[in-house]
Amino acid sequence: MNKQFFTENRVVYRAVVAAGDPWMYEVKAGQYFRIVDLEGNQAVDTLFYNAQDHSERYSATDTIREQGNIYLTTGSVLQSNLINPMLTIVDDTCGRHDTIGGACSAESNTVRYAIEKRSMHSCRDSFLTALGKCSCNHDKPMTKADLSSNINFFMNVPVSPDGHLDFDDGISAPGRYVEMQAHMDVLVLVSNCPQLNNPCNGYNPTPVEMIIWQ
Ligand SMILES: [Zn+2]
Ligand SMILES: [Zn+2]
Repeated sequence: MNKQFFTENRVVYRAVVAAGDPWMYEVKAGQYFRIVDLEGNQAVDTLFYNAQDHSERYSATDTIREQGNIYLTTGSVLQSNLINPMLTIVDDTCGRHDTIGGACSAESNTVRYAIEKRSMHSCRDSFLTALGKCSCNHDKPMTKADLSSNINFFMNVPVSPDGHLDFDDGISAPGRYVEMQAHMDVLVLVSNCPQLNNPCNGYNPTPVEMIIWQ
């Protein structure tokens, strides 16, 4: 990977994803994909697919095993379920990203918080909303079976010595970003997490910016 210096004239796509919204887009091989935590303390739940064959997708277990580390940061190679490198994190001003905690859902909201939280917005529902609207997969529509273990960018989920997961206060801050370079054409599916019940978003979901440059 040859890290280039970012300049505005290299930008090919740029969009702000509002608090709680889904987003889906294709990043071409060789391009850089930057996620900016505009206001800080926002969790960005993300899935990656091989744009030509959606059955090849990001694999948390293969990524963790291959790098020998449960946290993601600069140098982490995001592996597919076929053990192909999909993207490499080339820059990271936050320093820690989770890939164990999973995406929030109506079910987890009910179990973790309260039965009345069932109707609240969740990442799983946002993923499905985005898949339903996307024309990129009309040849072979994607369904909930295509939702596998995701990355939670900017989310701080330390694993304690006794093996339990803590959903801790974020360590990100306004303007921090993570940037990766794609090794293949990747379809990116994001839920800008709408979670209001734990500190991953500071109990207040905020917008993020997506920048693709080459
Ligand atoms: Zn999340
Ligand atoms: Zn969520």
